[in-house]
Amino acid sequence: MPKRKPTTFDLALVPPRAGAARTFDLELYLPPLRLAGRDYGFVPEVVPARLTVTYAGEGFAAQLRFSCRLEGVCWRCLERADLDLDVKAEDYFETKLPPVAETGEEEEPSLWFMEDGSLNLSEWARSAIAELLPPQILCREDCKGLCPQCGVNLNAGECGCKPPIDERWGKLRQWKAAD
Ligand SMILES: [Zn+2]
Ligand SMILES: [Zn+2]
Repeated sequence: MPKRKPTTFDLALVPPRAGAARTFDLELYLPPLRLAGRDYGFVPEVVPARLTVTYAGEGFAAQLRFSCRLEGVCWRCLERADLDLDVKAEDYFETKLPPVAETGEEEEPSLWFMEDGSLNLSEWARSAIAELLPPQILCREDCKGLCPQCGVNLNAGECGCKPPIDERWGKLRQWKAAD
């Protein structure tokens, strides 16, 4: 499948006059994510988004808002897990980047503010989504996962396996007894 191009926005479209906010409604492509070694995609992968840009100081304050649905698998039971997200990202883009030597311990230049003065909105969106994600992607909050012995999905019912005995603790107990 041909790779889609990221959605970009040329900041030159916003006149460098302080104060006035400009709003743009656009179609935003959301690139797939890889989380914990698994692939997650967005359905649909192009969503309506609203970008608001305000010229301020030496750059632009920008806000990007959109809603999306992430689809992939549950980390515990490997069944399907969907996640609906409302994303609101805010950032400030300096049009005059300081010389490299001056940046020192300052923040690194943004990954989504490109050298030609445009914003890579897809990359910005991906980063904002990553910050919103829960620590684990689950089909439901109390997902019981798979039985580590027989692999049955425990959400569907008990499998009858006995709780596993951890060999290491057995050995430790023996060693303690011999001491
Ligand atoms: Zn699950
Ligand atoms: Zn089992």
